[in-house]
Amino acid sequence: MTGFDNKNMQNKASLDFTVNCTCCKDEFSLCGMRENLFICPKCNTYLRMPPRERIALLADDGSFREIYENIESVDTLNFPMYREKLEKAREVTGEKEAVVCGLAEIEGAECVLFVMDARFIMASLGGAVGEKITRAFEYATLRNIPVVGFTASGGARMQEGIFSLMQMAKCSGAVKRHSDTGNLYIAVLTDPTTGGVTASFAMEGDVILAEPKALIGFAGRRVIEQTTGSKLPEDFQTAEFMLEHGFIDRIVERAEQKKVISSLMRMYDRR
Ligand SMILES: [Zn+2]
Repeated sequence: MTGFDNKNMQNKASLDFTVNCTCCKDEFSLCGMRENLFICPKCNTYLRMPPRERIALLADDGSFREIYENIESVDTLNFPMYREKLEKAREVTGEKEAVVCGLAEIEGAECVLFVMDARFIMASLGGAVGEKITRAFEYATLRNIPVVGFTASGGARMQEGIFSLMQMAKCSGAVKRHSDTGNLYIAVLTDPTTGGVTASFAMEGDVILAEPKALIGFAGRRVIEQTTGSKLPEDFQTAEFMLEHGFIDRIVERAEQKKVISSLMRMYDRR
C-alpha cells in the first residue's frame, strides 16, 4: 500500500487496509500498524507516518486547529504533467499539500505544529509548502508561542523551478524573526529529510531531534561519492551518524516524542 484516504481511516472499513513494511516487506493491518505507531512489529523499521496520525499522537485530544489549510500549489510554469501529479497526490493522501499546519496543545502547552507528508510528491518544497511554513512561523511569532515542526522532504519541487528554490530563504527569514522574539523552535527530522529542507528550516531549530535511522542529508549518497571520488561509510546520512557528528541533539523514539517535546517546551517557557 502506498497511501490511503485519511477520512476512510476513521471508520470500520479501515480494517480492510493493509500496510507493507518497506524493509521486511511483511504485510500488516492498518489498525495493527496504527497501534504500533507505524513501526514494523517484525523488524522495528520506522515507516513514514501520515501527518494526521502524527498529530493525533502528539497533540492533546481535540486541541488541534488546522490553519492555512486552503493554500495549494499552482502550476505557474505550466510544467508538463505537474497538474496531474498534484491531482494524484491529493487523491492518494487526502491532503491538499505536502504539509499540515495548525495550532495545538502538547500536554497543555500551546504551540504551532507543522507536519510534512512524504507521501505527497515526496514532500518537496513547493511554493505552497514554503508559504504555509512561513505563515506558521509568523503566526507563532504573533502569538508568542513555540513552533514544533516534523520535517520530511526529497528536496526542491522541480516542477516549480525558481519558485521552489526561493522558499528556503523565505522560510529561513520567518524562522529568524520567530527566534528574534525569543521563542522556541523544535525541529524533528523524520525519514527522509534532504535537499533544500535540510539546507534551511530543518537545521534551524533551537533543538533538533530526529527519529531512529531517519535519512538526513543534502545531496544523495551517489552524487557525493561521484563528486568526491571517495567511498562513504555504511551509516552515512543516518540520524545516528548525524548525532555522532554533532548535527542533531538527540534521537527520540516515537513513543517518547510527546513526553520529550512537552518537557522541552516547559523548560523553555518564559511565562
Ligand atoms: Zn518490517
